[in-house]
Amino acid sequence: MNLVLLGPPGAGKGTQAKLLLKGRNLVQLSTGDMLRAAVAAGTELGREAGAIMGRGELVPDALVIGLIAERTDEGGKADGYIFDGFPRTIAQAEALDGLLEERGSKVDRVIVMEVDDDALVERIAGRFACAKCEEGYHDTFRLPKVDGICDKCGGTEFVRRPDDNAETVRARLKAYRAQTKPLIGYYRRQGKLRAVDGMADISEVASAIGQALDMR
Ligand code: AMP
Repeated sequence: MNLVLLGPPGAGKGTQAKLLLKGRNLVQLSTGDMLRAAVAAGTELGREAGAIMGRGELVPDALVIGLIAERTDEGGKADGYIFDGFPRTIAQAEALDGLLEERGSKVDRVIVMEVDDDALVERIAGRFACAKCEEGYHDTFRLPKVDGICDKCGGTEFVRRPDDNAETVRARLKAYRAQTKPLIGYYRRQGKLRAVDGMADISEVASAIGQALDMR
């Protein structure tokens, strides 16, 4: 089962991807995570991508397609992939179809997470994560149980993404509308698209996605 999670920044794709991994032999491929790792490692790719990410724009298709091509070579033993934040353009979607076809596989299901624009800015601007284990938190929706200490690993340092500020979020939303939204029609025409209400509680969204995966 190869699954694409589609939706604007802040819709909860990463959160839901992690929940979907539980009890399933799937591999999560997040181009955002891969690019942030390249930025942190200071590679040439990271330097090129970092400046673009800081502006809230999309990095060039060839670059992210290359990252995904490397990683889809690795996941031999898994039952499939959860693509989170990829594809983001029609060219990326076509490249993904080609990559999977070469491996005798295909995109089976695409979930689009629908969220109000106003909620997105609040969701994104409040989020932070444990610097050690990357557990996600939020100023309004989910603070650590003990102030300043990660619930999961006991870490005491937290980080915020540099592109999670109001100005960059607006640019990211614009990029989503202009370049990524057309994927909804692309996958709907193929009969693969299912929409879920991304405004519901995390667990409700997870169960709606579970149902959408079982639907024929
Ligand atoms: P994300 O963590 O998915 O919100 O991605 C963070 C940033 O990384 C985006 O705002 C883009 O600049 C870049 N990025 C991530 N995935 C892609 C992609 N598939 N295509 C182009 N740019 C991407």
